[in-house]
Amino acid sequence: MLYFAASRTRVDVAFTADLEAQALRAVAEARQATSRRTPPPPLEHSKKCVACSLAPICLPDETNALRVVPPAPTAPDVRRLYPPRTHAQPLYVQEQGAVVGKQGETLVVKKRGEVLARVRLKEIDQLVVCGNVQVSTQTVHLLCEAGIPVVHVSSGHWFYGITQGFTLRNAFEKAAQFEVAADRERCVEFARAFVAAKGQNQRTMLRRNGGPEVRGAVREMRRVLDRIETAASLEELLGIEGQLAGLYFESFGRMLRPPAGDLTFAFENRNRRPPRDPVNAMLSFGYAMLVKECAVALASVGLDPYWGLYHQPRHGRPGLALDLMEEFRPVVVDSAVITAVNTGMVRPRDFVTAASGCAMKDTGRKRFISAFASRLDQLVTHPIFEYRCSWRQMIRLQARLLGRCLRGEFRPYRGLVTR
Ligand code: SF4
Repeated sequence: MLYFAASRTRVDVAFTADLEAQALRAVAEARQATSRRTPPPPLEHSKKCVACSLAPICLPDETNALRVVPPAPTAPDVRRLYPPRTHAQPLYVQEQGAVVGKQGETLVVKKRGEVLARVRLKEIDQLVVCGNVQVSTQTVHLLCEAGIPVVHVSSGHWFYGITQGFTLRNAFEKAAQFEVAADRERCVEFARAFVAAKGQNQRTMLRRNGGPEVRGAVREMRRVLDRIETAASLEELLGIEGQLAGLYFESFGRMLRPPAGDLTFAFENRNRRPPRDPVNAMLSFGYAMLVKECAVALASVGLDPYWGLYHQPRHGRPGLALDLMEEFRPVVVDSAVITAVNTGMVRPRDFVTAASGCAMKDTGRKRFISAFASRLDQLVTHPIFEYRCSWRQMIRLQARLLGRCLRGEFRPYRGLVTR
């Protein structure tokens, strides 16, 4: 007899040889499923998924939508099972000389005995330590146990690495990544998607915000974008990406309209290492923050942020994080820079320019981080699944879908392209 506590129902079950065989078959199938490298396909439009706690990891509707060949431009049947936002936010500790400790389940940031901040563990999804900031061993243990990564960056936000507990036990994700990375043709297939999504998003940014003067560049970008589909090598794609970037950044200054026409924010071309003007300083800083965001998202789904497909492995370069960030560069970082300049969030006095280059002062960095964080939290309609989602969640969603695609659950990978 079976008793269902919720409905207080008793059901008589006749224990027959047939039933026993059926149960043993089900156990054997379950055992076999756990030893497979790829999970069984998700259920299709099952009511079970609505209440399933695994839905944001399993992504049943998203995965099924992307399995359609040829891919549909949108997949409006996808249900809203994925959370639009996470309430937890990254905690940035930028104060040089600060120490991060813990009291119970609360992180406490102190400098020379003075408490600068107290943040409850459940309010953060990563701890970002910038430059000369210490984190106590006990705090690292607590964060590892809670599955919250500690991200190490320089005071200028150059990405050093991540400290993370062993919360993920799925080694197959990485194995699939390495297999694809060893196959040059598959690398080119993924690289086409990364470059196309970045180029299309750059073009959309210009078309929306550049005014009539950029129409020529927008047309030319279309022509260059059309060559991506037939590009046969990573080197060819690098050339196409460079041409797109050239066209885009030649017109980038047209999207900047600082209050009172301040010339400090005039933009001529993209330069870096070191950036020579405030806009380039913000772009470099923003890309460094974005690569960190992508690295955390990839690590959280079990992928190796350093083993890239388009950005081939090179010592110290987080190749896969750079791959994933391509599609988000224009719509997250460039957009945050444009907002910061055009709304007066950053001011000329937030920068210091010398012969060696232009750097952001602490105030400028704080203001730009605030513009960047607001952009990541902004809700937008997902271009394929048509539900609302923050940019931060979209990065995580794409990281998970990239993992799915690497394991061969669907092909090809689809970069996120805004309309
Ligand atoms: S969300 Fe995934 S794991 Fe959960 S019931 Fe649906 S298919 Fe199964």
